[in-house]
Amino acid sequence: MDFAFDARTEELRHKLLAFMDEYVHPAEQTAHEQRAALASPWDTPAVVEELKAEARRQGLWNLFFVDQHSLPDEEHGAGLTNLQYAPLAEITGRSPQLAPTALNCAAPDTGNMEVLAQFGDAAQQKQWLQPLLAGEIRSAFAMTEPEVASSDATNIETRIERDGDDYVINGRKWYISGAMNPLCQIFIVMGKTDPDGADIRRQQSMILVPRDTPGLTVARAMQVYGYEDHYHGGHAEVVFDNVRVPVGNLIGEEGGGFGIAQARLGPGRIHHCMRLIGMAERAIELMCRRAVSRTAFGKPLAQQGVVQEWIADARVAVEQLRLLVLKTAWLMDTVGNKGAHTEIQAIKIATPRTVVDILDKAVQLHGAGGVSQDFPLAELWAGARTLRLADGPDEVHQRSLARRELKRYL
Ligand SMILES: Cc1cc2nc3c(=O)[nH]c(=O)nc-3n(C[C@H](O)[C@H](O)[C@H](O)COP(=O)(O)OP(=O)(O)OC[C@H]3O[C@@H](n4cnc5c(N)ncnc54)[C@H](O)[C@@H]3O)c2cc1C
Repeated sequence: MDFAFDARTEELRHKLLAFMDEYVHPAEQTAHEQRAALASPWDTPAVVEELKAEARRQGLWNLFFVDQHSLPDEEHGAGLTNLQYAPLAEITGRSPQLAPTALNCAAPDTGNMEVLAQFGDAAQQKQWLQPLLAGEIRSAFAMTEPEVASSDATNIETRIERDGDDYVINGRKWYISGAMNPLCQIFIVMGKTDPDGADIRRQQSMILVPRDTPGLTVARAMQVYGYEDHYHGGHAEVVFDNVRVPVGNLIGEEGGGFGIAQARLGPGRIHHCMRLIGMAERAIELMCRRAVSRTAFGKPLAQQGVVQEWIADARVAVEQLRLLVLKTAWLMDTVGNKGAHTEIQAIKIATPRTVVDILDKAVQLHGAGGVSQDFPLAELWAGARTLRLADGPDEVHQRSLARRELKRYL
C-alpha cells in the first residue's frame, strides 16, 4: 500500500499551500475589516473577489468536480479524483471562511453544481451551472423545514403543484445556507409533487426557483450558537408563498427528488470531512503555539501533562481520521459512492465529533481567549459542531450504518 500523494496532487498541494500563505491567511483580517465597513454584512468583501480572481488565474478553481460515476471531470472542473481533491480540501479547511469560496469549492454551491451537471437539462445548465462554475453567482439548497423532522426527508411538506405550464410552490424552509448572500441567485427546492403517492420515496421532486421570483421571501437569518456566519451567506429562513415557476424548472423528472438528494450528499460529506481535518490541524497548531508561549504556576503550559495528553490525543485522532477519509475517497473513485456507503457514513459520524473535541481542547487551552473573537477557535468550534446536524444528524448515519452491519447476521 502506497500512502504517498501522486505527482499531480503534490504539485497542487504545494501551489495551494503557497496560495494560502501568500493570499488567503493575510486576507483574513482584511476581509473582517472590509465586512465591518459594508452597508450590509451579507455583501461580499472586495478581497474575496480578489482571492477568487487570483485562484482562478493560478488554476486553483473548481477542484472538487467529479462526474456522476465519481470520475475526474475535466469539462466542469480540474479533472481530479476524490482522492486527489481530498488533501486539497483539507488545506482549505485551515481557513474555512475564505479558502473554499476563493477556489469556488464552497458548499452548498459544489453539491448544487453537481446536481445541475448530473440531472439538469441543457437550458438549466446554461442558465445556472455556467455562472456558478464561473463563480459569478451563488446558490442554495432548500430542503429542511422548521415544522417537521427533516432528517427524514419523507416528512417534507412543501408542495410543488402542477398548474398548466407552471409549478406552484408553497412551504417554509429554514437553515438554508448561503441564502442571505444577495449573490445567491438560485434555489434548488425540494418538495412534494405527489404527496399521496404509494411509493414514499417517489413523492418528492426538486425544482429551480430564481431568487427574484414573486412569493419567495428570505425572511430572516438563523443563528448558529449566536453567530450569523456571514462568510457562508448565513443560514436563512425562506418562505415560498404561491411561488410560480415554469415546468421547465423541474430538475429531472417528477418523483426524482429523493434520488437526487441521495446522489448529492456523498461527495459533499467527504468535502466537509476533509475541511474539518484542516480545521483540526489549525487547532493543533494554535494549541502548540499557545502552550509554549504561556506560563502558569511556574512552568509553560506545554510542560503540563494534561496539555501534552490533549496534543498527543489530537494528533492521533487526526491521523486516524485522515486515513479513513482518504480510504473513503479512494473507494468512491474505485467502486463508486454506493460501494463506499459504509465508509461515507463512518467519516460523517467520526469526523465532526472528533474535531469538535479537538477544538474544545484548543479553546480550553486558550482560556478566556479561546471563547473570544481574538482567536478563530470559538467560531470554528460552532461551525464544526453544526456538522453533527447538517447533511443529516449523527444518529441517522449511525442507524443506517448499524442496519447495514446487522443485515449480514439476519
Ligand atoms: C448550520 C446548518 C446549516 C444547514 N444548511 C442546510 C441547507 O443548506 N439546506 C437544508 O435543507 N438544510 C440545512 N440544514 C439543516 C440540516 O440538514 C437539518 O438540521 C438536519 O437534517 C436535521 O433535521 P432537523 O433539524 O429537522 O432535525 P430532526 O429531524 O427534528 O431531528 C432532531 C434530532 O432527532 C434525532 N433523530 C432523528 N432521527 C433519528 C434516528 N433515526 N435515530 C435516532 N435519532 C434520531 C437526532 O438526534 C436529531 O438531531 C442546516 C443545518 C445547520 C445547523
